[in-house]
Amino acid sequence: LPASRKRANRGEFSSVESDDISFFSNMLGKNRVLTNESEIEGYNVDMWKIIQGQSRLVLRPKNTSEVSMILAYCSERNLAVVPQGGNTGIAGGGIAVHDEIVISTSLMNQIEEVDEWSGILVCQSGCVLEKLNEHLAQFDLIVPLDLGAKESCQIGGNLSTNAGGLRVIRYGSLHSNVVGCEVVLADGTVLDCMNTMKKDNTGYHLKHLFIGSEGTLGIVTKVAIQCPPKPKAVNLAFVGIDNFQNVLETFRLAKRDLGEILSACEYLDHETLACVSENLQMKSPIENSFPFYMMIETSGSNGKHDEEKLSMFLEKAMNKEFVSDGTIASQPSHIKNIWSIRERFPDALMKDGHLLVYDFSLPLESFHEMVEETRGHLGPLAKRVTGFGHLGDGNLHLNVTMDEFNPATLAKAEPFVYNWVAQRKGSISSEHGLGSIKRDYIYHSKSPQAVYYMRELKRLMDPKGILNPYKVIPHT
Ligand code: FAD
Repeated sequence: LPASRKRANRGEFSSVESDDISFFSNMLGKNRVLTNESEIEGYNVDMWKIIQGQSRLVLRPKNTSEVSMILAYCSERNLAVVPQGGNTGIAGGGIAVHDEIVISTSLMNQIEEVDEWSGILVCQSGCVLEKLNEHLAQFDLIVPLDLGAKESCQIGGNLSTNAGGLRVIRYGSLHSNVVGCEVVLADGTVLDCMNTMKKDNTGYHLKHLFIGSEGTLGIVTKVAIQCPPKPKAVNLAFVGIDNFQNVLETFRLAKRDLGEILSACEYLDHETLACVSENLQMKSPIENSFPFYMMIETSGSNGKHDEEKLSMFLEKAMNKEFVSDGTIASQPSHIKNIWSIRERFPDALMKDGHLLVYDFSLPLESFHEMVEETRGHLGPLAKRVTGFGHLGDGNLHLNVTMDEFNPATLAKAEPFVYNWVAQRKGSISSEHGLGSIKRDYIYHSKSPQAVYYMRELKRLMDPKGILNPYKVIPHT
């Protein structure tokens, strides 16, 4: 962890010994038990190079029964573990804080079935999101989830973080799309919540416990997810806007006039776009001179109708002077180019040197105010302070860059930003989770009673606390 991020004290867990390695090697074979520093290096650092783990052992099971045997053994031996999917998480949840054993799901990548009538896909949790989409293309279906990390993140990681991304406005969160899951609990018990029916009101909905619990309650081994039809027509508008009030007006108009075909509504400020053009030399689709931009996507079943609807919306937004300039892309290659600008924001920001990334739910009116106030508060301690996000879901990503990690910048930014959000009754983690980085700020968004019951639940399901310790809930 960067110098001024405090590492929680190591819990009273056993340490891995050579007998443990022999046991795992007998079970999985030597090539699925990694112990060499060079082999495990990549599992010990997050994609953003913010968190440095200290694990000395990585296990790569291929199926549920192997995960179950691993956890039964670890529970018996009191060895702590950390589940890891694609390792694209932003809160440090998938990285060992001390010497936890990394259980990587990367080899659990089998697609089991697609029901072409219901659209329900059943697969192992290590399937990469984009691979699922490629497989679903033959059924004219898509995964109801799209995010910049789609080429690396895994569906089990998505479920465990309750990942949001670009299409929540259209398809809802994973709480509504995941119809079932299979999970291995801390003691190795396989918990079958693998319902494949859309509706099921037989008792408590245990699957929801695992959606967003960041691997602290169990290791997800299988997922059943409802997949919508692939839209026949997609159109994308990229617009420039003169002031923040007009961003809000444009959003309201988009909801009203585009109605059922609205499928994404993204927001970015000038500083974010400037960073992309400076650091990645990517060209803006319209003149790069506005304080704010929006990306408004429609997905429907009739190209001509949808394009007309989006053109009429844009014309109206310009006549009302909400929007100052804009372009519409209807060709798939053009649309892909514009989305690729959006997907590269994190890359561009990281190129500044070091990045602090925040993920807040806020009342929409305070989106820009938060960016400005943070910029003023940090002054020269920040190289850049920018804002972008999923406006349609009230989710702002606030970014602070610096040439290299500076503890003084971190100390000035936190808890300032968390207090700011709490005062407005927002959420300090809209979609990235708490992991190890934000764990101690949970009280900024949750009451002490809520945290108490979370801790009790954790104790019930993982009495020894071996599953992803030091994450999500303080003092577990
Ligand atoms: P990991 O990073 O490996 O793990 C994340 C957490 O889930 C950890 O706590 C880990 O222990 C746990 N976990 C992983 N697999 C399992 C499992 N099988 N069982 C139990 N626990 C498990 N996130 C968004 O929500 N929206 C975005 O728009 C978005 N955009 C991104 C863009 C980029 C370029 C990048 C790099 C990341 C982005 N993210 C976004 C964050 C990240 O991609 C998501 O959090 C993703 O869901 C993590 O999946 P993963 O497989 O990489 O999980």
